Formats: sequence, structure tokens, C-alpha cells
Amino acid sequence: MPDKPRILDLIGNTPLLYLREVSKLTGCQIYGKAEFMNPGGSVKDRTALGIIRAAEAAGELHPGGVVVEGTVGNTGIGLTLVANALGYQSVIVMPQTASQEKIDQLEMLGADLILVPSAPYDSPQHYIHTAESVARGRASTEPNGATWARQFDNPANRRVHYETTGREIWAQTGGHVDGFICAVGTGGTLAGVAAALRECKPGVKIGLADPMGSALYSHFNGGPLRGEGNSIVEGIGVSFMPGNLDGVTPDFSYQVDDDTALPYIFNLLKHEGISVGGSSGINIAGAVAMARELGPGHTIVTILCDAGSRYHSKLFNPDFLMRHKLPFPSWMAS
Ligand code: PMP
Repeated sequence: MPDKPRILDLIGNTPLLYLREVSKLTGCQIYGKAEFMNPGGSVKDRTALGIIRAAEAAGELHPGGVVVEGTVGNTGIGLTLVANALGYQSVIVMPQTASQEKIDQLEMLGADLILVPSAPYDSPQHYIHTAESVARGRASTEPNGATWARQFDNPANRRVHYETTGREIWAQTGGHVDGFICAVGTGGTLAGVAAALRECKPGVKIGLADPMGSALYSHFNGGPLRGEGNSIVEGIGVSFMPGNLDGVTPDFSYQVDDDTALPYIFNLLKHEGISVGGSSGINIAGAVAMARELGPGHTIVTILCDAGSRYHSKLFNPDFLMRHKLPFPSWMAS
């Protein structure tokens, strides 16, 4: 940490938390990297900083310039925080179905927010395509430059996870790590951490935890790139292959439904005091599946991507859960 730390110095170097109950359940040591501790509240602060620093180095951004991105929220929050700290502006394109808490946070940070209807990836209205066309338009008019962060394909995304998240996990476990597993939104976390750990320990097992409706589980099991079902979990699951996953093949992949994932986050909150969002539940369920596959005694690391407070109106709201026919514990209803 420098002498006079600034907010960007707080990104990364997150603690690795021992997850007691799932460790007990499986006989393994399961750890969660506490990414909700980042100043913008999620794993995507790392991506935001990595992408903005790469755009600066490429001469695409100058003081007062604009960063444009399509996101389900967390990358937008990270980019806007970093932009505010470094003197840029942000334009964030986001599906209007994202949690109100993330929309509120982006408004508070002062992002230029464009909410679009939820649309399939092959529609030009999809938030990613909308962001691309907004970025192209702004690039031709902004005197200080405009850059499209393009987190799904930008090598700066996986690179920052290779250089930071992956190396931190290696150091924090003292090299005693047998498996790493997480879900994919852009694939930056999975690809970067997998590259760092495989470099240090070629036999380490890499797992994908894929929510229902995402196409990757089918793809990695020899099927078409197509997903069935759906998930209320935000920020993960894709219907296309993100460029970040080029050349990355997980050793194991698991499909996790919301009914299985949510009890993990409720139990973690109630019994260990750790508040996380839905993607962390998918990740923990994946870590449990991987622990059962590897057998007792192994050390498995996953990601606690963001905090439960970001989804209070959804995942921690019995009315919302009931409407979606999802389980909730009795303590939540009272
Ligand atoms: N969980 C949440 C809540 C997210 O917002 C994201 C990012 N979209 C992820 C997990 C997945 O991270 P990545 O983009 O690195 O695959």
C-alpha cells in the first residue's frame, strides 16, 4: 500500500474466507475470495481498473474522455468508480431488469445510464450491441476520446485476473490449492485465474459452475452452444462464447439450478454472517460438486463475487422468491 493510499489502491488483495459449513459437509477445505470487499463492491472493480489502464496505455483515453460499456451492473459500477477517480466519464448501458440496487448505485455514482429492455443476444437491442453502437457514436464526437470497454473480448479483462486474482489465490493458499471453480459472465475471472494457477501447478483442477439457461455447460460437454431453462441470478450465464474463454477448457463443469444455489447463500448469511449475491451461491454449489468429485482432504477456492445487499429486493425478498417459485428459509419470512 502506498504512503497516501487512494481509492484505487483498495482494489484487489481481498481476503480468502474459509467457508466452514460447506467444508464440513464435504470434508474438503473450501475457501471463497471475498470480492465483495472491493470498493465498488464486486469482482468487477479489478476488470474496470485493468481495462481503463489498458485503454490509457493504448492512447484511447485522455483526461475527460468517456468509457462506454454494456453490463448487468457490476462492471458499470466498477468503471464509474474508476472513471470518477481518474477524471473520465462513464456511459453505462444496462438491461432494465437488473436489480434496482445496482441501478441506484450507478445513479449515485453519476454514470450516464442507458436502460434497455431485456433482449436476446442476436437482437440489435441487446445491451452489449447497444453499448457498441453508443461507443462508436461517442468516439466520433468526443474531443477527449471514447472507448468501448468490451469486457467480453478485451484481453485486459482476463489479464488483470491472471496478474491479481489468480496470483493472490496462489499466495494466500501457500500453493496448496487443488481446485478452482467459478461461473462465467465474461469469463475474465475463470480464464485469468485458471491461467495463473495452471502456470504454478499444472495439475490443478479448473471447474465451471454454469447457471441454468447458460450455453457453456452444454458446449463443454460436447453439445451445442445452447442453454435450457433460466436463472434469476444476475451477472453470469451466456448464450455465446466470450472471447475471454478462447483456449480455456475446464476440467469439470457443472450445471447449477437456482433451487440448489440459493440455500447456500441463505445459510452463509444466517450461520456464518457472510452476505453474498446469487452468483456466489452458484459458485459455492459448484465448489461442493467439485469437492465431492475430488474427494475429502482437497482445497478448493471459489469467488464470492458481490454482496447480498445488491439484491435485497430480489434474492432476499420472500415475495419475489415466491413469485419465482424459489425456496426461502422460514427466518426470512418472519
Ligand atoms: N458474479 C457477478 C455478480 C458478476 O457481476 C459477474 C460479472 N459479470 C460475475 C459473477 C462473473 O465474472 P466474469 O465476468 O469475470 O466472468
